[in-house]
Amino acid sequence: KKEHLRLELDSLSQNEEFARVVTAVFMSRLNPTLEEIDDVKTAVSEAVTNAVIHGYKGEAGTIYMDITAQSGEETSLTVCVRDAGIGIPDVKQAMEPMYTTDTSGERSGMGFSFMEAFMDQVQVESEPGRGTLVTMKK
Ligand code: ATP
Ligand code: MG
Repeated sequence: KKEHLRLELDSLSQNEEFARVVTAVFMSRLNPTLEEIDDVKTAVSEAVTNAVIHGYKGEAGTIYMDITAQSGEETSLTVCVRDAGIGIPDVKQAMEPMYTTDTSGERSGMGFSFMEAFMDQVQVESEPGRGTLVTMKK
């Protein structure tokens, strides 16, 4: 059985926590372990934060989340986080550990690495000027 949740969020930093908590509550129907919940929350937090600070550069925009819970014999959770922001010119480079375009010194360039470490699959599609879609599966 597949169940879907779709969310549209304003690109605000306080919505990062909201996205994280909603995802955790939605995923609870799959009877995950606490560790699995924490892993997914971390990955969602990184993806939504990226949309807010990089995709929309802190300006107004909409973040689209699409979550699918697959129950039954093969249980899985798929989380898509999409923005219609600036996009990423070189996805492969952006996903390298410690790669960041941040110049303030606040960012460590580990967001994508965390997503890959805490989820089983991470796919990033992006087009400069059009936005970014991150699809993560656990
Ligand atoms: P950290 O996540 O450790 O705070 P970071 O956000 O710079 O630092 P990553 O999350 O790994 O590191 O992202 C790497 C780079 O990819 C970013 O610096 C940014 O240039 C680009 N990037 C990531 N997500 C997006 C996005 N949604 N839109 C545009 N650029 C993005
Ligand atoms: Mg990041």
